[in-house]
Amino acid sequence: MRVGVLALQGGFIEHIRHLQTLGADTFEIRKRLDLAQPMDGLIIPGGESTTIGKLLNDLDLFDDLKKKIDSGLPVFGTCAGMILLAREIAGMETACFSSIDIVVKRNAYGRQLGSFFAEAEMTGIGLIPMTFIRAPYIESAGAGVEILSVVDRRIVAAREKNVLVTAFHPELTSDNQVHRYFVEDIILKQGKSNNFAPILN
Ligand code: GLN
Repeated sequence: MRVGVLALQGGFIEHIRHLQTLGADTFEIRKRLDLAQPMDGLIIPGGESTTIGKLLNDLDLFDDLKKKIDSGLPVFGTCAGMILLAREIAGMETACFSSIDIVVKRNAYGRQLGSFFAEAEMTGIGLIPMTFIRAPYIESAGAGVEILSVVDRRIVAAREKNVLVTAFHPELTSDNQVHRYFVEDIILKQGKSNNFAPILN
């Protein structure tokens, strides 16, 4: 099990640590050559979506990553990562990867309220801690999208096919259950359960 973590900007180190606690191999994606490595899954971290989007183009990573995601590579985007994966960003003309049929609102809670902590249910996992930082939320979701969590009547986690997104940062808590959920889903899809045993803790 080898998961690539986009490491252009933002909180990629924390994702790598969480994946490591589960016993997954990780590598950082910074340039095109990194994409030549075998990859079972991809994480797009939080940070600043406009900056990461610009770097994806400047470093010529966008097309190759989009091809991989479109052809079914399991991908998990948190916060800015969710924004980059959305079909539409409210108030903006263009989206980035358009990999999941959701409309997201950036900095959606306003400057003061955008950063907060909550504990809420996520379908398939249970009660988890959620750290929101200048957070977006999902304004609307297409019929094919499974809504996984709602906090204060806002959708904050969802999935469609190979794409999982959260408006919050599970990597910034000590709870690795969302990463486990992502990794176990990859194993399920690949039928690779003999090659990888998540470390239980
Ligand atoms: N506000 C950021 C954006 O719009 C996202 C914040 C985050 O990733 N913590 O890209």
